[in-house]
Amino acid sequence: MASSYGYPFEQQHCLSISQFSRPDIETLLALGEYYLDLSVQKSPDNRILTGKTLVNLFFENSTRTQKSFEIAGRRLGADVINMEVANSSVKKGETLLDTAATLNAMNPDMLVVRHGSSGAQALLAQKVSGSVINAGDGMHEHPTQALLDALTIRRHFGKDFGGLRLAICGDITHSRVARSNVQLLNMLGCEVRLVGPPTLIPSDADRWGVEVYHNMEDGLEGCDVVMMLRLQLERMSGAFVPSKREYFHFYGLDRAKLAYAKPGAMVMHPGPMNRGVEIASSIADDPDVSLITHQVESGVAMRMGILHALSEAQDGVA
Ligand code: ASP
Repeated sequence: MASSYGYPFEQQHCLSISQFSRPDIETLLALGEYYLDLSVQKSPDNRILTGKTLVNLFFENSTRTQKSFEIAGRRLGADVINMEVANSSVKKGETLLDTAATLNAMNPDMLVVRHGSSGAQALLAQKVSGSVINAGDGMHEHPTQALLDALTIRRHFGKDFGGLRLAICGDITHSRVARSNVQLLNMLGCEVRLVGPPTLIPSDADRWGVEVYHNMEDGLEGCDVVMMLRLQLERMSGAFVPSKREYFHFYGLDRAKLAYAKPGAMVMHPGPMNRGVEIASSIADDPDVSLITHQVESGVAMRMGILHALSEAQDGVA
């Protein structure tokens, strides 16, 4: 049977941007856009996950990502279960693979997992029969965030990513969002720049297909999109920046620094934001320059699109 969107999407899991072909990505973005156009409508017609179970398994804290998957799953008719890791056997010393075996015996169709170790979801995916969706693994990848960011950009700037110049700024070293976004935006043909202090740019960044800048003035020059990242203090051992105040002075986005970008440039941030550290409130809250709430809205729609594609692939509808 042909898929409802006319493309043979055959992926069982969503683990990494690198697993997808360009047509896979275009299909996912088109599905995300479809759900965004419906403005996340709740009619029974779209309950294509009815009878399926989605389990949210978050070993690291999350507000928006977990809720976003929960809402997306429910809007498509799935039974959604949030596993409280803090109260589960994991806290009693159960290993990831034992947790996987237990969950697998309950037959979830979709397993949305966030874990502090890079590669944890890829390991889980080998042990369970349902689809595993990576909602962030350590400093490695956050593919659904990159997809929702691309959807947000496409919504604002149109489908031609080719002419866009983007700067991803701040704590790149500890950011799975940056790693997924660089791969996806490169695949879509954008010019991608990384901007940050040398201590927060990974030493292998010159092999990522990006240009690296250490000051905002040069890095933001002519950019259409400025994507700010949180200082991930919880992943830092030791001090990577002298002080938050000094960091804001050199790398925090305010009006003066945004003025280096192209007129009409838009600002993004995956959240949660550290206001006054990497971004000024006056920028984050200005709807004329900030796409931050649009990112949250695109998040639900994009995740509906991803669940839709994975569900049809599971059912052999390709
Ligand atoms: N929410 C994003 C993540 O989980 C970004 C962040 O935490 O700074 O990676």
